[in-house]
Amino acid sequence: MLVDRFGRVATDLRVSLTDRCNLRCTYCMPAEGLAWMPQPEQLTDAEVNRLVRIAVEQLGVTEVRFTGGEPLIRRGLVGIVAEAARLSPRPRLSVTTNGIGLDRLALPLREAGLDRVNVSLDTLDPGRFHTLTRRDRHADVLAGLRASVAAGLTPVKINTVLMRGVNDDEAAALLRFALDHGYQLRFIEQMPLDAQHQWDRHEMVTASEILAALEPFDLQPDDVSRGTAPAETWLVPGHVDAAGRPARVGVIASVTRPFCGDCDRTRLTADGQVRNCLFATEESDLRKLVRDDAPDTDIAEAWRGAMRGKRAGHGIDDPTFLQPARPMSAIGG
Ligand code: SAM
Repeated sequence: MLVDRFGRVATDLRVSLTDRCNLRCTYCMPAEGLAWMPQPEQLTDAEVNRLVRIAVEQLGVTEVRFTGGEPLIRRGLVGIVAEAARLSPRPRLSVTTNGIGLDRLALPLREAGLDRVNVSLDTLDPGRFHTLTRRDRHADVLAGLRASVAAGLTPVKINTVLMRGVNDDEAAALLRFALDHGYQLRFIEQMPLDAQHQWDRHEMVTASEILAALEPFDLQPDDVSRGTAPAETWLVPGHVDAAGRPARVGVIASVTRPFCGDCDRTRLTADGQVRNCLFATEESDLRKLVRDDAPDTDIAEAWRGAMRGKRAGHGIDDPTFLQPARPMSAIGG
């Protein structure tokens, strides 16, 4: 198992499949993109499959989420999902995506064994989407959402980052949209992980502000235990999701209501580095072990060692906090 000094056990693996993206969200990366990872540095499909297998078979990982960058632009994605679905015990499998291309890929991914998708969508307005992402792809995201429900990748979750003066007037409209279509909306507080280092603690939209904007929905406390889930959820009376369950809305308040004490995540970057926290400033190189033909047991032991050193908290509020060198898109969100 992946146990740290504080007794937390990591069972949820986030695997970044690429640092590249087909959007250029202003709060994530500059218009010209970033210096992408050279191809030879990226794990091959076979190397990803091997590390996921070790995590599941030897380290107790029960949940694997593929992310990026944009995971849908990784050519081998369907095959990687299929391989993970053959593992025993079979992990739960999901993808975090901007939704572009999901209209085509939702069904093949479902057939390969994918259980769920999280689709990122920050606005309902196509013009605003274009400004925010620097790409005119709003309709593609909506098509991807619809295809995900049709393929049975439910509950389909939408991730939204609200930003002051940009889209913070859309909280209620986004929830209405999610309820009307049976999607589960989760608001994510903006974190200091942008490539441009422009995040400002005083400018971010907080969980309290988000909940205040949702007052008209008369949200009710959720009786289902949150466990290790990052989102705090509320029930939305009078609504059900696409699978017929009571509708919920979530807030991931990593900054103002940190949940590090319950964190069960371990992360693998597209170049095979283990990160024990989104905000870690150190990484452990598994790619070298893989390419040196190290046995599974050595790789598993290196992974355990990487997790043992996990800090108690992300320390965003600490005066000595340092933003990690890798931006969100290169870590895997
Ligand atoms: N391309 C995929 C997508 O759009 O979902 C996966 C990667 S993206 C980095 C994952 C999520 O991180 C998106 O929902 C995005 O909005 C969010 N994100 C990016 N930068 C963020 C930040 N600084 N704080 C909070 N969330 C952020």
